[in-house]
Amino acid sequence: MRQSWSDALTAIRWACSVSGNPGRPYSSRMLDAWREEGDSTDAAGQAGIIFRLLWELRGAPMATLVARAVKPSIPCRCKAPCCSGKRMNNDWKEAIDVLAAAALAAGISGRSYDLRVAILHRFYGSYQSYRQIALALSGDNAPVDDGTVARNGKEMKAWLGAKEGGDNSETRDGIEPMAFMRATELLQSAGLLTG
Ligand SMILES: [Zn+2]
Repeated sequence: MRQSWSDALTAIRWACSVSGNPGRPYSSRMLDAWREEGDSTDAAGQAGIIFRLLWELRGAPMATLVARAVKPSIPCRCKAPCCSGKRMNNDWKEAIDVLAAAALAAGISGRSYDLRVAILHRFYGSYQSYRQIALALSGDNAPVDDGTVARNGKEMKAWLGAKEGGDNSETRDGIEPMAFMRATELLQSAGLLTG
């Protein structure tokens, strides 16, 4: 039986969770979604259908949705003495990397890779104030000032149309809201959303 989901983010979160292989992030699974012709009734087959339907959003648009849908870290049961019981979620990390590269390519927040990633973390799951980010990125001889971080953050936020913690404003412009609308259309017309 075909499953359905309440909204696009829930469908994406589910598709990422049934990978069955933590070593392969979603972007690599999107690449071979076309080849997964198999039985669409099993979970992997249905996840393949979702990724295939969202193929046109590959790159930054899909990355905003994955970064929004999945958690930054997931439980780890490796039992290694050094393990904190959590590890970074591969799908989330991949999405952040894709967005950091896309921001650079688009000329957004080009100051440094670390700054782009820190700002993306703020938008997608691990909120830090711009002051905290500035302090974390400052070296002994190379201070980073809050104003620079905030300026880069605002630019990045407008480009993504991303929401920050506690921000309930309706944003319609930017990569993320556009990707969400399109993903909703695509999944809805395939009958995969209940709403
Ligand atoms: Zn572990």
